[in-house]
Amino acid sequence: MNAILAPAARPAIRELPDALISQIAAGEVVERPASVVRELVDNALDAGATQVTLRLLAGGVRLIAVEDDGIGIAREELAMAFKRHATSKIASLEDLESVGTMGFRGEALAAINAIADCSILSRAAGAREAYALDGHSGEIRPVARGFGTTVEVRELFFSTPARRKFLKTDATELAHCIEAVRRHALVRADVAFAIWHEGVLVQQWRACAGADVLAARRQRLGDVLGAEFTQQSVTLQPGEGTVRVSGFAGVPDVARARGDQQFVYVNGRFVRDKTISHAARSAYEDVLHGQRQPVYALYIELERTRVDVNVHPTKIEVRFRDGREVHQAVRRALDNALAAPRAALALAAGAAPSAAPATVTAPAQKSEENWPARRMQQAWSTPDLLASTNRVRDLEALWPVAIGNQSAGDAPNAAAAWSPVPASAQQQGPLPAADGALGRAIAQLQGIYILAENAQGLVIVDMHAAHERVVYERLKRQLDGNSIARQSLLIPATFAATAQELETAQTCGATLDALGLEVTPFSIRTLAVRAVPASLAQGDPVALARSVLAELAQHDDAAVAERVLQRARDEILATMACHGAVRANRRLTVEEMNALLRQMEATDRSDQCNHGRPTWR
Ligand code: ADP
Ligand code: MG
Repeated sequence: MNAILAPAARPAIRELPDALISQIAAGEVVERPASVVRELVDNALDAGATQVTLRLLAGGVRLIAVEDDGIGIAREELAMAFKRHATSKIASLEDLESVGTMGFRGEALAAINAIADCSILSRAAGAREAYALDGHSGEIRPVARGFGTTVEVRELFFSTPARRKFLKTDATELAHCIEAVRRHALVRADVAFAIWHEGVLVQQWRACAGADVLAARRQRLGDVLGAEFTQQSVTLQPGEGTVRVSGFAGVPDVARARGDQQFVYVNGRFVRDKTISHAARSAYEDVLHGQRQPVYALYIELERTRVDVNVHPTKIEVRFRDGREVHQAVRRALDNALAAPRAALALAAGAAPSAAPATVTAPAQKSEENWPARRMQQAWSTPDLLASTNRVRDLEALWPVAIGNQSAGDAPNAAAAWSPVPASAQQQGPLPAADGALGRAIAQLQGIYILAENAQGLVIVDMHAAHERVVYERLKRQLDGNSIARQSLLIPATFAATAQELETAQTCGATLDALGLEVTPFSIRTLAVRAVPASLAQGDPVALARSVLAELAQHDDAAVAERVLQRARDEILATMACHGAVRANRRLTVEEMNALLRQMEATDRSDQCNHGRPTWR
């Protein structure tokens, strides 16, 4: 008989040496120079710094030094700073559950010291002398220094060359380091930051004073991300309730190809969180085109005990006690901010919608003259625009509301399409005060645009796109008024289901029911869709059921799954609205044009058509 394993063949269990433990821990905390920067700046902010200076050599690989003017570390405690699990920030489990500092695990300095050459220079508040601690020898000697602390980290990964090989070019590492400071800077507008690389000042952000935190953050946002960000975002005022969301949401026009300008803070900590990004994504869904990524900075505040920050050593992930309340709060805050048409604000601020500061009281920003023109070219030259005006077929029943139900017999006529239709002469003259922000129609251009004038100048409206949104929002409102009515299918739609779909259908029956869906097992591997929401009766029941099940499998959360239904419903409504909207080359009377302008002013999200294109400039 064979022995399972001779004792001699397996090394004995033993405790790892201290240095190795720290190196293993460092693997979790320190991925690249930017991770060190994040930890050191965290510490500086926890120490109450008002000025943080970062000095780097070779993208941070040769040197990272973070200097602050915080409370410092007393000589007696200095030696503890590099010890594993040594912290001044928490002392008990209760402290951990309601932690308010950036750090609390007491492992960052120890981990960094295990993989680099470190020293700390510090002069504690009130102390007469400053001391330097060498991370390797443990030697402490007096030095000259003002109040505060400097932590120096040299030759990162010198003892773990394998790790060092993963680093990118200095320029890339520098960019990551700057990004790490940026994340701090956007939430701590009250602190000044400076970044030096190879002796050159590469970034500097002055402290933004003032009792109004949101106003200071707005100013900081402009400094860090450029005036475009603040000029083209709407402000979310902090609401009431357990989860308070404030911040800035970029208008759909400035969405990007990448999601690199999405900053989310929970109780002052930069986080990446699926619940929050899902909520944000769904709030933008209705106004944003396809894969475009919105830009936003969201500051979420909730009771500390409602969120667990001790999920990951880098503390970039958090866990909410009630994810649903966070989802709803974020979604609602963004929805409200994005829905209001921006024409009136633009008029008040004297600019096109995209260039309008969203809060009228906000300080005027210097405008970038070329900008609106450039965007306009982009926006209006999209082939999409013509495509969508061509694909329209009339659904007479849906669209008479704004335009009147006239015969739509005007065949496209090249000559008419190119000559503006002037408004009647007696309509000229000073603008009546009662006219709305989009002004008064004066002509129809190319059979596609309405030219209007307001107190500021000229406004061009894409009439199909605008009307499409007006019809769409009205359809949604009508449907929202009713609870989800279900319609039983005469013949249940069956489909071969995966094990997970079967499981989800059984465990989430109540949620499905509330959504107007009935999905029950048909055989051992088949599910049957027996009822769907009445508003979606024309759709594909199997596709609908499967996407709802997939969503429910990920989070058994009615709020999330409801979104799938809403999206399916909105797609159908959008198609209906598109068909119902006024066609290109249909000549409108001045009254009709004005009626459309007034409806736009009163319609949520009317700055974009259903496909995310701007409706006016
Ligand atoms: P943590 O931040 O989780 O407590 P660290 O390893 O980052 O753990 O830091 C250990 C301790 O060193 C901190 O708890 C703090 O008391 C002290 N410390 C570190 N950096 C500074 C600083 N810049 N100013 C004052 N004290 C600091
Ligand atoms: Mg720390």
